[in-house]
Amino acid sequence: AAAGDEVPEWKRLAMGSAPSFGFAAKDTVPMREQRASLPIARLKEELLGAVDANDVLVVIGETGSGKTTQMTQYLYEAGFASVASNTRIACTQPRRVAAMSVAKRVAEEAGCRVGEAVGYSIRFEDVTSPETVIKYMTDGMLLREAMADPKLRAYTVIILDEAHERTIATDVLFGLLKVAVKKRRDLKLIVTSATLDAEKFSDFFFQCPIFTIPGRMFPVEMLYAREAEPDYLDAALLTVMQIHLTEPPGDVLLFLTGQEEIDTAAEILFERVKSLGRHVPDLHILPVYSSLPSEMQTKVFEPAPPGSRKVVLATNIAEASLTIDGIYYVVDPGFAKQKVYNPKLGMDSLIVAPVSQASARQRAGRAGRTGPGKCFRLYTESAYQNEMLPSSVPELQRSNLATTVLTLKALGVGDLLHFDFMDAPPPQHLIAAMETLYALGALDDEGLLTPLGRKMGEFPLEPPLAKMLLASVQLSCSEEVLTIVAMLSVQNVFYRPKEKQAAADARKARFHQPEGDHLTLLAVYNAWKATRYSSAWCYENFVQARSLKRAQDVRKQLITIMDRYRLDIVSAGREWRRVQRAVVAGFFTHAAKKDATEGYRTLVEGQPVFIHPSSSLFFIQPEWVVYHEVVSTTKEYMREVMTIDSRWLVELAPRFFKVSDPNKLTRRKRQEKVEPLFDKYAQNQNDWRLSKRLRQR
Ligand code: ADP
Ligand code: MG
Repeated sequence: AAAGDEVPEWKRLAMGSAPSFGFAAKDTVPMREQRASLPIARLKEELLGAVDANDVLVVIGETGSGKTTQMTQYLYEAGFASVASNTRIACTQPRRVAAMSVAKRVAEEAGCRVGEAVGYSIRFEDVTSPETVIKYMTDGMLLREAMADPKLRAYTVIILDEAHERTIATDVLFGLLKVAVKKRRDLKLIVTSATLDAEKFSDFFFQCPIFTIPGRMFPVEMLYAREAEPDYLDAALLTVMQIHLTEPPGDVLLFLTGQEEIDTAAEILFERVKSLGRHVPDLHILPVYSSLPSEMQTKVFEPAPPGSRKVVLATNIAEASLTIDGIYYVVDPGFAKQKVYNPKLGMDSLIVAPVSQASARQRAGRAGRTGPGKCFRLYTESAYQNEMLPSSVPELQRSNLATTVLTLKALGVGDLLHFDFMDAPPPQHLIAAMETLYALGALDDEGLLTPLGRKMGEFPLEPPLAKMLLASVQLSCSEEVLTIVAMLSVQNVFYRPKEKQAAADARKARFHQPEGDHLTLLAVYNAWKATRYSSAWCYENFVQARSLKRAQDVRKQLITIMDRYRLDIVSAGREWRRVQRAVVAGFFTHAAKKDATEGYRTLVEGQPVFIHPSSSLFFIQPEWVVYHEVVSTTKEYMREVMTIDSRWLVELAPRFFKVSDPNKLTRRKRQEKVEPLFDKYAQNQNDWRLSKRLRQR
C-alpha cells in the first residue's frame, strides 16, 4: 500500500491506535452527573413552561450551557413528540459536522444508537428511522423538507439552533416558519442564539419572549498584539509554543481558517515540540474541521493525559457549534474563511477575511468556561475597535442566490421582493439570480417556475449541476453524468503527499482524458468500480478511498431521486461529446476562450483566468473551455476544465448566447473572430423584462 503509509506521524498520534467499538465500555453515571450540572438543568421546568405558554420562544445562553444537547431531550421527555403519534422534534444546525457530532452525543446520553430514537440528516446522508423522535439536521435539509411540505407537519417542535450564524437556509426558514407557526396551532418554534441578536429575533417573531440561561463565565484576560502581524500563522504557532512552555496547565484552542492550514500548522507544531526533546511536557495536537473522519472528531473531546497539554486547532466550527471542555487559552488570529459572491466569475468563492467583533468576543469566551482564562488576540486593540465589523454580514446578503431563488419559487413564493426576510438581500442580487435561472431554463419569461425548474429544485444540487444532470437524460448520457456530478460534489479525490508528488502526479496522469477533467474524474471512478471498489487500488493510485466512497453514496442518492421522477439512466457508450454537451448545458456561463497573449478570458465578463496546473488540460490549452470552478491563489485558476466546441454554447443556451451578426461586430471583435458572442444587449433586455415582472408582483 503505497499511499497508506503516508498518514503523517502527528495525525497517527492524534488518532490513537485503537478505534473504539460500540457503547459497551461507556460508564453512564458521570454522564448523568455532567448533564445535571449544566446551567440549563436548573431551568428545565421553567423552560418547558415557557415553551408551553408560547408559540415562539427565543433562547439565549452561553455556549456550553446545554441548549443543543438538552432542550430536545427535555421536550421529548415532556411529551412533545412520540413514535406513537408519529411526531418528532427537529433541531437545525448550520454545519454538517455539528449535526452529526451532536446527534452522536445525545444518542449516547439517551442510551441508544444513532439513527434510533436520536438521528441526524445532512445532505446525502440520512441516519434516521421510523423510531426517530429527536432529529438533528442541517438547516439546509429542513429547508428541503419544507419544499415537500411548507407547514413541516412531521414536526411538533422546531429548534432553529445557532440562529446568530444567519446562514441563508436559517434566514429563509425564519420567513417560512413565521407563516407556519400562525397556521399550525400545534407547532412550537424555538430560536436559539449565542449572542446579542435576541431582541432582533424577538421583534421579528411577534415580540416573543426571550428566555435567558445565565452562563457560568469566568473572566478572560485579553492580550492584544502591539502591532499588526504580517504572518498570522507564524505568529499563532509561536504563541502556542510560548503558552505551552511558560503558562500554567490548561488546554489551548487556536482558530485557523481551513483544513490545509490546520494540517500544516499541526505538522510544524509537532516538529517543534519534538525538536525540544524530552524536557518539555507532551503537547497533544488535535485538528478539528468539517471533513475530519469521525474517530478523530471524537478524540478532541477527550481530556489530555495528566501532565500533558492539549492544543486544538480548529476552524470557526469551535466558535459556537462545538464545545470542548478544559480550554484556558484561546489564540485568535482574527480570520475565517467566508463565502463571498464574485459577480465577475458568476460564483461564490471562499476568501480568508477578518472576523467580526461578535465572533472575536465569542472566540475569547471559549477560554472562560472552566476557569479564568486568557485570550491572545493577534491583532491590535485599535484594529478590533476600528476595523472589524460589529457583526458579520448575513450570508443572504453576500452570496449567489440562484439556489435560494429556485427554492423559494419551488415553495410557491411568487413575490420575492416582498418575502418576509429579517434582512432582505439586495434586489439586484435577486434579479441576477432570476436571470441565471432564466438562462438555465428554470424560469419562464414571466419569472415563473418551468417544469424543468421544478425538477431541478428536487435535486440537492446547485442549479447548474442539476441542469447538467437533467440535460444528460435528454442527451442519453445520464449514467456518466451521474458519476461526474457525484465526483464534482466531493472534495480531495486525489492524494498528493509532499515526498511523493512526482509518483502521485504520474499515477494521476494515467487517468487524464483529452476532453478534460470531468472525463478524467469519470475515468477514475470507473477504474475503481472495475476493481469492485477496492481500497487497495485507491492506495496504489494515490486516490482517496474516502472521497470515492462518498461519491458512490452521492451517486446512489441521486439515483433515488431520478427513479422517483422516472428519469432514465442511459449510458453514452463512448460518445463523449454527449457528456460534454450536458456539461455545457449547465455551465455555459463558465465558458472561457484562450487569450491572444496568455491564459484565458471568461466569455461573460472578460476576466483573465488560467488553467490550474493540476488539470489534465494544463499542457493542452485548448481554444475553448468551460470550467467548474475558479480558485484564487496567486492567479484566478480554473479547476476542473473541459474542452468544448463553441457552437454548443449557442445551441444549448439559446437564451444566453447568440451568434452575432458579423456586420454589427466591432473591428476588434472581428479580428479576434469571436464566435459565438455573448450578447450583452439581448441579456439586458431579459434584465429589463424580468425586473419589470419582479416589480409588478
Ligand atoms: P450549547 O448548545 O448551549 O452550546 P451543548 O448542549 O452543545 O451546549 O453542550 C453542553 C455540554 O455538553 C458541553 O459543555 C459539553 O461538556 C458537553 N458535550 C457536548 N457535546 C459533546 C461531545 N460530543 N462529547 C462530549 N461532551 C459533549
Ligand atoms: Mg449549541
